[in-house]
Amino acid sequence: MLAYRDGVERESRLVRDPLPALERAVIQPYADAVPGPFHYGRTAHPVGEEAERLLGELEGGRALLFPSGSGATTALVLALLGPGASVAVAAGGYWGTLALLRAELGRWGLSVTEFDQTAPPPAADLVWLEPCSNPLMSFPDLEPAIAAAHDAGARVVVDNTVLSPLLLRPLEQGADFVLHSATKILAGHHDVLLGAVTAAREQDAERLATFRAATGIVAAPDPAWLLLRGMQTLAVRVARQADTALEIARRLTGHPAVEVVRYPGLNDPVAAKYVTAFGPLLSFDVAGGAAAAERVETSLRLIKNATSLGGVSSTLEARARWEGDRVPAGLLRLSVGLEDVEDLWEDLDQALARVGEPESERRDRDRV
Ligand code: PLP
Repeated sequence: MLAYRDGVERESRLVRDPLPALERAVIQPYADAVPGPFHYGRTAHPVGEEAERLLGELEGGRALLFPSGSGATTALVLALLGPGASVAVAAGGYWGTLALLRAELGRWGLSVTEFDQTAPPPAADLVWLEPCSNPLMSFPDLEPAIAAAHDAGARVVVDNTVLSPLLLRPLEQGADFVLHSATKILAGHHDVLLGAVTAAREQDAERLATFRAATGIVAAPDPAWLLLRGMQTLAVRVARQADTALEIARRLTGHPAVEVVRYPGLNDPVAAKYVTAFGPLLSFDVAGGAAAAERVETSLRLIKNATSLGGVSSTLEARARWEGDRVPAGLLRLSVGLEDVEDLWEDLDQALARVGEPESERRDRDRV
């Protein structure tokens, strides 16, 4: 609701201004020889600041944009931790975060451990949680996990990419930072790469802003404008996608070609303490492993066989294709979009019906 109110009513019109002249977003002339707050775009620009204000208001802290979710992760770790620091990362979450921390930031002395986020976190300087983790959909008991991390002297980041601040506001559970791949549901249209960190404390936000201006890991104005435009419809998209995902998860449960369905909205009492609707993402395992998963991928007609999630069009892929994603061979990750639930189900059902179909029959059918 807030996103709608802020993006539309506050401006008292139904469409946003066109993207302001990019020159104004990069340089603004001094007034009486005094540089203003937007004198040079690497420090700040008006479109970025407007998007940050809106996200910060939704999350309940101060938000900063970065060029991607991975850029936000890099900035957070490099700006806030020092040499030899340790990070404990939720296992079964986004494999790219783990790979980035281990392979790239690990070269600078960062030590990285994985842990089961449904149990208390191990000792570390920074604890990384991912509710509705991508793609294994685990959900931490946020309040005790964050309190235990704080008692042990750690700070806590919650990756809120899948749920968005309309469904979960981790700063309210005590997190120090919220991270987003804004590429996903916040921007919502599969047409922009962006990331964000929202800090609970002003001094941390200032540290990140200084780091960002110095390193140039800065979001450009045009993606920030697309984010603002996308966030005008965030509330309606999130509500519709959560309803559709729950319905699809229910129908997949008990489908003869499906062995496991993962969607915390179905049956996770811990998740239910914090969230009442669970976002667009779910995963399920098809009987028959990698070959069956590939059969589903190649049989889809409406759903895009593509990576990424949270956009207006549904995407599905077998996650075992990614080297670092240690998941069952038959795991399919589905992100539902805004299509009609019956159309989505029809597509999934016909693709699942082809699992186990003899190859010769499949070739015959594909010729038609
Ligand atoms: N966090 C999660 C949960 C993700 O799914 C992703 C990307 O898929 C990222 C972070 C990284 O974001 P980006 O692709 O914008 O760098």
